[in-house]
Amino acid sequence: AKTWILTKHFEGFPKNSDFELKLQELPEPKDGEVLLEAVFLSVDPYMRPFSRVRMHEGDVMIGTQVAKVIQSKNPAFPVGSHVVSRCGWRTHAVCDGTDLIPIMPEWPQDVPLSLALGAIGMPGLTAVYGIEEVLGLKEGETLLVNAAAGAVGSLVGQIAKIKGCKVVGSAGTDAKVAFLKELGFDEAFNYKTASSLEDVLKKASPEGYDCFFENVGGASSAVALQQMKNFGRIAVCGSISVYNDTTPQTGPFPHLTMIFKQLKMEGFMQSRWEHKHPETLKRLMAWVKEGKLQCREHVTKGFENMPAAFMGMLQGDNIGKAVVAV
Ligand code: NDP
Repeated sequence: AKTWILTKHFEGFPKNSDFELKLQELPEPKDGEVLLEAVFLSVDPYMRPFSRVRMHEGDVMIGTQVAKVIQSKNPAFPVGSHVVSRCGWRTHAVCDGTDLIPIMPEWPQDVPLSLALGAIGMPGLTAVYGIEEVLGLKEGETLLVNAAAGAVGSLVGQIAKIKGCKVVGSAGTDAKVAFLKELGFDEAFNYKTASSLEDVLKKASPEGYDCFFENVGGASSAVALQQMKNFGRIAVCGSISVYNDTTPQTGPFPHLTMIFKQLKMEGFMQSRWEHKHPETLKRLMAWVKEGKLQCREHVTKGFENMPAAFMGMLQGDNIGKAVVAV
């Protein structure tokens, strides 16, 4: 098996020299075990902060993949079936079934399996739970989402449109802004070229925002909070703008805005609602089949390009979900 090892903890933005491609001998599967072959691997922002807290130098990079069962001594996972596996950045792995999620048996032929890492996988679940469980978004409300052309953000905007809301999104290139308009966002802007974030937020929704789906964090958050309506709700999903910082974030936090506007802010991780995953994945699949969710993917070819795909995603190369096809 080929594996990508984290040779050195990231300092600042990841570098090629932080990774090493290694060959690993695999044992024959024993009773209850299967041999997996990776088909698609996911590259996600969480790998950057989690590498610090969940990994040691020398470990295989963490991550999720869609894999094909190529040998099986576990009747629950027959040869030729596909699973979602959390075995990390490896081309092959021997696993017992405990941590494997079978791809739903009714997965349609015309839906790419890679969507199990995107719209019909973790990013899709994140979008739904942020909107429904955390924000409680209601028809007719106005929602702001940043990193809006990415895996989670592009789904957040589309789901909010399904729910009859006004949606404003920000992203880092004009091509991404055009993509957001194609998806049906009411307003979209390029945060890198906007001369004033405050002005552009005011113009996009002069009456303010009921809900804010926060993926980015950093200084721009404080500006967005000022544009919330009274009793606005904020779902803190991610903070990608600070993941590569070498010194921890410090204040100032806009407490007065929180108080005067009586805002409600809640951080969340999609895993909180694990018991709802099967039902939520079915709903996401139905939206995809009905054409209500467009699922753009940014596909990098070749397992040897995993680090490049990961670093590219962190710096914004992707429109839609970033995945690697082996
Ligand atoms: P994306 O597909 O959105 O990819 C990351 C994007 O972040 C890039 O394309 C880039 O787009 C944007 N970005 C990078 N740096 C900055 C910056 N400094 N300021 C603004 N935007 C930046 O990733 P995901 O959809 O997978 O994840 C989006 C967010 O959601 C992340 O913060 C992630 O950690 C979080 N998340 C949280 C989960 C949870 O359970 N809480 C689960 C999954 C994701 P651009 O060109 O627009 O800058």
